Amino acid sequence: MPLTLLSVPREVGRRWARALAEKRTPGANLAATLWADHLGNVMNCFLCDESIVTPPPPFTQLLPDKAPDQVVAAPLCPACAALPPMVRSHRCMALWRKVIGAPHW
Ligand SMILES: [Zn+2]
Repeated sequence: MPLTLLSVPREVGRRWARALAEKRTPGANLAATLWADHLGNVMNCFLCDESIVTPPPPFTQLLPDKAPDQVVAAPLCPACAALPPMVRSHRCMALWRKVIGAPHW
């Protein structure tokens, strides 16, 4: 299962999250830019491992990276993207902690 995670500069991630939260188009444009090298690939959902066919760029969950000035972008399938935001981020963080093996963030 090809799990595709992107490490992006924190400032980019923050700008992106803000644009998405405000439903401004730069959010979608940034997503397309960030995933540009991977569009056309099949990705697997970070949460449920469902295949995601691209393009379009997948819904993206941002996670803290180990590097302090970076964030990690993880692709989610439409079903997981449709989860209530609190549930979604909680599940992502729980899984992410296992992936990186760090109990406290
Ligand atoms: Zn999923």
